[in-house]
Amino acid sequence: MLRDIKPYPLVLKNCLIAGMTIFSSLALSQPATAPRAEAIYFGGNILTMAGDTPRYAEAVAIRNGKIINVGSKAAALQLRDERTRMVDLAGKTLLPGFIDAHGHTWMTGFQKLSANLLPPPDGQASDIPTLLSLLKEWQSKNPVAIDKVGWIIGFGYDDSQLAEKRHPTAADLDQVSTEIPIVIIHQSSHLASMNHKALELAGITAASPNPAGGVIRRLADGRTPDGVLEEMAFFAPMFKVLASFDQNASEKIALAGADYYAQFGFTTAQEGRASKQITQTWHKLADEGKLKIDIAAYPDLQAESTFMSEAGTKKTYRNHFRIAGVKLSLDGSPQGKTAWLSEPYVHVPPGQPADYRGYPAIPKSDDLQSLVNQAFNNNWQVLAHTNGDAAADALINAVAKAEKRYGKGDRRTVMIHAQTVREDQLDRMKQLGIVPSFFSMHTYYWGDWHRDETLGKDRALRISPTQSALKRGMWFTEHHDAPVALPSSIMILHTTVNRTTRSGAVLGEDQRVSPYIALKSITDWASRQYFEEKSKGTISVGKLADLVILDKDPLKVDPATIRDIKVLETIKEGKTIFSQN
Ligand SMILES: [Zn+2]
Ligand SMILES: [Zn+2]
Repeated sequence: MLRDIKPYPLVLKNCLIAGMTIFSSLALSQPATAPRAEAIYFGGNILTMAGDTPRYAEAVAIRNGKIINVGSKAAALQLRDERTRMVDLAGKTLLPGFIDAHGHTWMTGFQKLSANLLPPPDGQASDIPTLLSLLKEWQSKNPVAIDKVGWIIGFGYDDSQLAEKRHPTAADLDQVSTEIPIVIIHQSSHLASMNHKALELAGITAASPNPAGGVIRRLADGRTPDGVLEEMAFFAPMFKVLASFDQNASEKIALAGADYYAQFGFTTAQEGRASKQITQTWHKLADEGKLKIDIAAYPDLQAESTFMSEAGTKKTYRNHFRIAGVKLSLDGSPQGKTAWLSEPYVHVPPGQPADYRGYPAIPKSDDLQSLVNQAFNNNWQVLAHTNGDAAADALINAVAKAEKRYGKGDRRTVMIHAQTVREDQLDRMKQLGIVPSFFSMHTYYWGDWHRDETLGKDRALRISPTQSALKRGMWFTEHHDAPVALPSSIMILHTTVNRTTRSGAVLGEDQRVSPYIALKSITDWASRQYFEEKSKGTISVGKLADLVILDKDPLKVDPATIRDIKVLETIKEGKTIFSQN
């Protein structure tokens, strides 16, 4: 389906003028033998993403990692000399490099290297016996890793997609091993299940009380742990496991994550809810010149407050790394029924009362307020994981109070996920300048589950209400939250445009947005979320030559087939860092 395309002469003229200005100043400062344009891209759909409506250019010229000309091919050819690399796109599509509005790059590498327990189509774990055999298979193939780490680790199981519609328990996992501790992490990363050996090592017994902000699920006797751990009950033992990795392993995991992102066209990635240790791993890799894409870390303010006071944030990258702000987590996840809602879940988890609404991760509002105050006081950008609308109320109230105390400012506080924000909450967010970063991928992965199991039809139809934000003139971003979902830029686009569930139903037809808006949410608008709109997000003169080549133009295919689009090449500051060939 063809979308209306604005002709570009006016843009072209402006770009040409800007390009010529830059060119003449470069020409003066460079020796005569230096190449003018290092590369010129032409012959395809060059969608600049600048402006409110689609604009195409004929050619893009780059030099020293930056874009020096955008416009007609004739103008670009003026910058060509014998050393200029001419790149014929041959009908393919060139876009600005994708920007990860929210994800966990290190954990994505961790997922890539652990047993894949994702349900189809991203994995094979469709029932518990299959899941157990996948773990056994991974165990037999990874003796060295298990020997080193001491654990069998699986990632991505989803109780809503398992035939049994329940979490695997300690008793199930004991069938894989009773000697080696096993932890399998739920696709939401907010829950996990352990075998008895792992529970023993974590010191979790019938006598253990539930930690604040977490639940140790129990057998019918109400005491004996069944192996399933929610939120804080899972994070504490998991951090210990992760901390046992040596530096070398941690670096390998980090680079595997960054590489995986690049395969999906991302040139900027986020390390959300970073620990001090993982932040330092990225820092070290940056110092050693090993990073190919930009990594922006947001350490967990609750856990790493002392570290943040020492480290602070930076506005610019050094060797592709910076600490960009802080992360807060206000609740859990709706698919795991731990998101904090104002109205009850449709079907509550076993053992919970009928009016169960999930729960806050930071139960005391004073604690939340002092964390937000600390961030405002230090001018640290806040990214707040907020899924349920009760959690959204808590965040909005805390930001409003902090703003009263510290004054108005361009802080771009981000509500990460914002999945169940109500219309009245969007009004307040607009007023306070809180940016929603939506998670429309849920419409596909958990859409049916939300409609039937967790939220019910009314709330499910308007999860990640992108069109409600647009109507208010708000810009927003979209994310994959990898490793919760694969770091697939293409699935972000597909789900934000189509909102079709696994079963093929459309979840909230009136919340769908155009492919151009979906692209905006991972390019131009995502650069704004990072305060990086001057250097990234659009193909414009003076910005970084962060680019991605797709086999097809998302604006020119049938929207239902966007998911079939392939990322062919990823270019960071003029260098190809991923190529399909
Ligand atoms: Zn989150
Ligand atoms: Zn996340």
